[in-house]
Amino acid sequence: MRLESILDLDKKYVAQTYERQPIVLSEGSGIKVKDIEGNEYLDFVAGIATCALGHSHPAVTETISKQAKKLVHVSNLFYNRPQVELAKALAGVTPDSIKKFFFCNSGAEAVEAAFKLAVKHAGRSHIIALEGSFHGRTLATLGATWKKSYREPFKALIPPAFKFVPFDDLDGIKSVINDRTAAVIAEPIQGEGGINVPSENFLSGLRDICDDFKTLLIFDEIQSGMGRTGKWFASEHWNVEPDIMTMAKALGNGFPIGCMGAKSEVMDSFSPGDHASTFGGNPLACTAGKAVVETMKKERLPQHAEEIGRYFKKKLKELAKKHKSVQEVRGRGLMLALELVDEKSARLSVTKAREEGILINRTAKNVLRFVPPLIIEQKHVNQLIKTLDQILKVTS
Ligand SMILES: *Cc1c(COP(=O)(O)O)cnc(C)c1O
Repeated sequence: MRLESILDLDKKYVAQTYERQPIVLSEGSGIKVKDIEGNEYLDFVAGIATCALGHSHPAVTETISKQAKKLVHVSNLFYNRPQVELAKALAGVTPDSIKKFFFCNSGAEAVEAAFKLAVKHAGRSHIIALEGSFHGRTLATLGATWKKSYREPFKALIPPAFKFVPFDDLDGIKSVINDRTAAVIAEPIQGEGGINVPSENFLSGLRDICDDFKTLLIFDEIQSGMGRTGKWFASEHWNVEPDIMTMAKALGNGFPIGCMGAKSEVMDSFSPGDHASTFGGNPLACTAGKAVVETMKKERLPQHAEEIGRYFKKKLKELAKKHKSVQEVRGRGLMLALELVDEKSARLSVTKAREEGILINRTAKNVLRFVPPLIIEQKHVNQLIKTLDQILKVTS
């Protein structure tokens, strides 16, 4: 099928909820993807921080093929081995506080589970979220998602439990938190909000305030977790441990899986019947998750992300010095961004990069986001920088 007919079919039969780039991707290997017209791209999007091991990584592809032949799904009415094995593997890499896990199928579901657990454990009804946040598109997670245009049309359905406080503002938290606050939810590094890194004392200050009010601290590591920022989880950069943590995106390297982890005594507030998911934690998804954790460990990908991320950021800073259209370089590890002066130049940069064979993504209007597979090397970074250098010359 040709490009035009696929675009036509999409228009006719698929909900028009995405602003898509006009290419049809059909295969991928490592950090490269190909479209149906045979064009090859360096992929700095990686399914939005998802295909962290690169596309079609044999460790994942082979284990899920094998598992698919054996058993795909049984429901949580029974035990299954991959689920307990993945939980044990995660306990080995998550912050020490996080000991027990609930499995689901997406990021938003993991955050929903976190909210339910927090409210049940604390016996309280309010949740504080930060401006610039993104926690998902389901109704409760929309309540904690900052962007007004996402929330406004559906406000009739959004629970009134949520309050927003400016990002990186401890006084703001203090002015809103009280003994009805079940939890504060924060991305240790904000993703969709434009790759916002908090100042040095923010997360530890947040931890202290939560402790003072016996409020639970939820870290949403769906985007920043799984090695992306140079540590297994971004909160480790500041040595702050949450009570509840959410994961998804890179956990299955593209196979759908979400997970909510918590301190044992917090997770034990859930009793049978309090929460459930038909597909959650099925053998196939958990096999993918386990292969990801093992491969990341074996290939030391968090360390690699730290090293190559440092080089990448240095190169982005050089670009920023050279081009007036760049306002700021942000991020850690391989969760990096260039903020440009306006939305127009950001849009144009995404298009031009694609025409030059590099996929990048734009978020928060004027921010170019780089969340490539963690296996990238200097030569890939150099190729992107060279392309951006040419593009920014023209767009600025
Ligand atoms: C992507 C994302 C989500 C939502 O995940 P979905 O799988 O799309 O539901 C939630 N929180 C953060 C920080 C994310 O980046």
